[in-house]
Amino acid sequence: MLDWSDTSSAAKAPAFIPLPQGAVDQTGLGAIDRSGGRVSVDEKRMINCRADVNQLLPLKYKWAWEKYLAGCNNHWMPTEVSMQADIALWKSRDGLTEDERRAIKRNLGFFAASESLVANNIVLAIYRHLTNPECRQYLLRQSFEEAVHTHTFQYIVESLGLDEGELFNMYREVPSITEKAAWALKHTQHLDDPGFKTGTPETDQAFMRDLVAFYVIFEGMWFYTGFAQILSLGRRNKMVGIAEQYQYILRDESIHLNFGIDVINQIKIENPHLWTKAFQEEIRDMIRTAAELEAAYGRDTMPRGFLGLNAALCETYMHFIANRRCAQIGLAPVFDETENPFPWMSEAMDLKKEKNFFETRVIEYQNGGALNWE
Ligand code: MN
Ligand code: FE
Repeated sequence: MLDWSDTSSAAKAPAFIPLPQGAVDQTGLGAIDRSGGRVSVDEKRMINCRADVNQLLPLKYKWAWEKYLAGCNNHWMPTEVSMQADIALWKSRDGLTEDERRAIKRNLGFFAASESLVANNIVLAIYRHLTNPECRQYLLRQSFEEAVHTHTFQYIVESLGLDEGELFNMYREVPSITEKAAWALKHTQHLDDPGFKTGTPETDQAFMRDLVAFYVIFEGMWFYTGFAQILSLGRRNKMVGIAEQYQYILRDESIHLNFGIDVINQIKIENPHLWTKAFQEEIRDMIRTAAELEAAYGRDTMPRGFLGLNAALCETYMHFIANRRCAQIGLAPVFDETENPFPWMSEAMDLKKEKNFFETRVIEYQNGGALNWE
């Protein structure tokens, strides 16, 4: 029984800390400016804003609000997806090859911890420094979606009777997963440092590096090969429950990715001095390195490959996606032009088209919002 009357942990009133003279309150946590004038749209900025961040209206960035609404329209819960077919297949002696089992487990292990890393980054690194209330509104929605995604892996572990420690600790045990996690984590760590503040070209670029690392690379590149792996199995009628959940996650992530791209591009518009030639090259290097880390993970996860999927195809897909992400933030491609080896991935995002494909129950959550966030 939960005891709602427990007050033992009630917080003591915090000491009142006034802002130093002339400082601008970018967190929204400073002393209330009793003589502050009403906010005008022109004062609103993505970073280093001087306008009150606690006032949603008037809206400036409609794209942020629209993504908040789209996220709400896409609400789903993992427990609404039936796992019966997956349980039967997973427990069957020869329904899955050893290679398929290895790939599925590594994939689940990668995502299980990654959802937490992404959530931590939003809450502990991005939110504080993104000084715009409509963007923060979206971040709050996204944070909840990351919780739903983490819940999905809890539900999968429970349904299939997997070893929870094996799955959730995999990011510390399997080097090719650790490499990716550690590469991204250093950006969160840098921004979470209590001494870190935006407002200089160096720190503003550090903030942009974090946005690229998480929105463009973690969610926009690494997650996409992860989705392709599971959805490719789903297309062969294997692990259809997980595949259906991944379709919902993919739909959420495509909005996360596009929100991140809009944020980066808007910061570029407002702060063109940050987007130097050298910085652009640095971002292209990040994307190239990330694709290499993913290729290593692919070889580790699918040493032999299986029907329709192998490490080489995943690497080609990563090159295709990397070039697309470069274009989305206005950078030259980092790899030679290549065809998409998984053209069905864009179809997979359209749940209405796919819903007869997987013979599982698909719920129509979508009540309006478009799905063309790819
Ligand atoms: Mn997620
Ligand atoms: Fe996400």
